[in-house]
Amino acid sequence: METRILDIEWNTSRTGLINPVAIFEPVEIEGTTVERASVHNLSILEELKLGVGDTVKVYKANMIIPQIAENLTQSGTIEIPSHCPVCGAHTEIKKEKTAKTLVCTNANCKAQRLRALAHFTTRDAMNIEGLSEATIEKFLEKGYLKDFTSLYNLAAYEADIIQMEGLGQKSYQKLIASIDKSREVALANFIYALGINGVGLGTAKLICKHYNNDLEKMMLASSEALTQIDGVGPVIAQTFNEYFSLEENKQMVTNLVKELKFKQEDLMTSVESPIVGKTFVVTGDVHHFKNRKELQVKIEALGGKVTGSVSKSTNYLINNDSESSSSKNKKAKELKIPILTEDEFLALIEE
Ligand SMILES: [Zn+2]
Repeated sequence: METRILDIEWNTSRTGLINPVAIFEPVEIEGTTVERASVHNLSILEELKLGVGDTVKVYKANMIIPQIAENLTQSGTIEIPSHCPVCGAHTEIKKEKTAKTLVCTNANCKAQRLRALAHFTTRDAMNIEGLSEATIEKFLEKGYLKDFTSLYNLAAYEADIIQMEGLGQKSYQKLIASIDKSREVALANFIYALGINGVGLGTAKLICKHYNNDLEKMMLASSEALTQIDGVGPVIAQTFNEYFSLEENKQMVTNLVKELKFKQEDLMTSVESPIVGKTFVVTGDVHHFKNRKELQVKIEALGGKVTGSVSKSTNYLINNDSESSSSKNKKAKELKIPILTEDEFLALIEE
């Protein structure tokens, strides 16, 4: 169908990408009225030489998604915005392998803040229930939320929040209770919640274990020091170090930590566990734990390590059938490595 371009809208996504959307005179395609189509990125925009007033041909890709097929007049007059439409910060053109894209350079852009806050609340992070992305967006718009710390000061807006559509006294109280609950958190989950690029929960745990849950030490760690940790690669080490080298991040974390209380038991386990630094091999069926994986998680949580085969560096083999003729049992006996049943293992860790 032929139509005429009325405008190009620029939408900032949660990842900071700013995507052009063409607005045109409504046309009917396959039974529905269509008046907008994503142009996807700068490369496509330039290829089409779009401009307001141009006559274009539109169609529906896969019978659903409106697309611009061609531009019949090619005025090429669209200007690429120099500022983000959401936050007003400078934009930057990025050249990726296949396309040029426009990005917002402001890490505090509302669109990006929404993404960061949504990640912060997830289960493996701060585990805050009942705070949907839609609610975060509303709170950002109203100014109740700015950064992570502002989550813990929402009570200041109680009177306004309970007036909001879809909220009310009851859900407000539930939300505050769930936010308060998140104040007590394991340090690794907190580190993960910060959303440092590439730092998953597993990596956060490794770093916490290495630094004995000493946040201050972690914040000062050089990337060389971080690379020494088993399982932490140079890229993540560098990102982690760069994150905490930024004054604004340091300040933010310092303020945020004042609202939190790191779980004591997690601090204790890495210090006092009798199996810190010990290497285990697990074989055969388990019954106390759901499966071998769960037992492995327990060992790692207490500072031990699990490997796949018995060697001189193995400290214990866990096998409920000590008379088993498996190769692991034979090897352990040969090397005089103690073979523990699950119960003996539990006694060892005093549980
Ligand atoms: Zn922005």
